[in-house]
Amino acid sequence: MNTSHAEGTLNLLTGRYLAYRDASEFLNDRLEPTEPTLFEYLRRSFDIPSHQVLLVNGEDRPQEEFFTFGAGDHFGVDYRSEMLSLHRYKLYRTRMQLAEGRLDEAALQAVAEERAGLLTKDPRGATPDPSPEVEAFWARWRQDFGDDGLRNPRGDRLLTELSVRALRELQPRFLMVNYQDPDYVHWGNPSHYTRAIAIIDEGLQRLVAAADADPFYRDNTVFVITPDCGRDANPLAEVPFQHHFNSRSAHETWAVIFGPGIGKGTVDRPVDQSAIAPTIAAAMGFSANRAEGGAIEGAFL
Ligand SMILES: [Zn+2]
Repeated sequence: MNTSHAEGTLNLLTGRYLAYRDASEFLNDRLEPTEPTLFEYLRRSFDIPSHQVLLVNGEDRPQEEFFTFGAGDHFGVDYRSEMLSLHRYKLYRTRMQLAEGRLDEAALQAVAEERAGLLTKDPRGATPDPSPEVEAFWARWRQDFGDDGLRNPRGDRLLTELSVRALRELQPRFLMVNYQDPDYVHWGNPSHYTRAIAIIDEGLQRLVAAADADPFYRDNTVFVITPDCGRDANPLAEVPFQHHFNSRSAHETWAVIFGPGIGKGTVDRPVDQSAIAPTIAAAMGFSANRAEGGAIEGAFL
């Protein structure tokens, strides 16, 4: 089993291993799911609009921008999630700037080139336009943070900001946040890893506090926190906390699950990463019936 981020994310989203293929002959780091994602299972089971099933993604996970629905004839684009990310905001902003035409000619040309570059990032060329609700979300974001990209938070703090605003403005039933910053440890500095974890901790505190303060979410929201891969534990490695050396610890992850209906205590035996999807499905009252296994035994009250 590979321990790359995209593959781990797809294991979590589909409840299966190896449920993907190359999305493009030209971009060999682009995978697309070949099995239905949790987004599709959920929206097929319940009448939930796309803006209430959200994936929040960062700029260092470009290929995960397109994990909003699987290829193949199981479910597909009609049951996709929508995406909140800086990439999507830039698509919105450049479209608005070109339509408004308030910039001078050189600036408009630069915006047109920026937009053309953004559009080449989708290997499938199959990204539907955002729903009116998400359009309105971006209009408010633009009002608050402007066009220059200098005022909004960066990195994982940006993902927290997008998520907290989404809880308030879009009321998602399912929100997946792809925190990414601990991976800056690939640059070689261990403190990149530990500092980034502290920032995710702050983000989780904000998210849990936002849910607790909102009657829409209070007492009916389950949180699942889990990494897409483990980390190498070799203390002699020159660059620590990597995940591409096939070490045992890079294959081992953990999950913290809490909320109504979830049992207290520890499941102290090996559980597959592919069990996360059916566990989320069981907590939400639908079935991920193409997943490899069932929900984690002992996770529920
Ligand atoms: Zn990495």
